[in-house]
Amino acid sequence: MSSARSPFEQLRDRFNETDLECSACGYIDADGSWRVSTTGSRVTYQFMCPTCDAVETREMRL
Ligand SMILES: [Zn+2]
Repeated sequence: MSSARSPFEQLRDRFNETDLECSACGYIDADGSWRVSTTGSRVTYQFMCPTCDAVETREMRL
C-alpha cells in the first residue's frame, strides 16, 4: 500500500501513462518512462529516443 503519495509522484505517474512519442522520428516507446529531475520548483521530464537519440523534454512547475 502506498497511501502517502506526494503530488510529485502523482504527477510522475500521470506522465508515465502518456505515450512517449519522439517528435523527431515519430517513434513511440510503449515501455519507456520519463526521466525525471527537479530543479527548485520545476520538474523536468526527459525521454531519449532509442532510435534517433533525440531528446524530448517537458517542463512543469510544481
Ligand atoms: Zn526519434
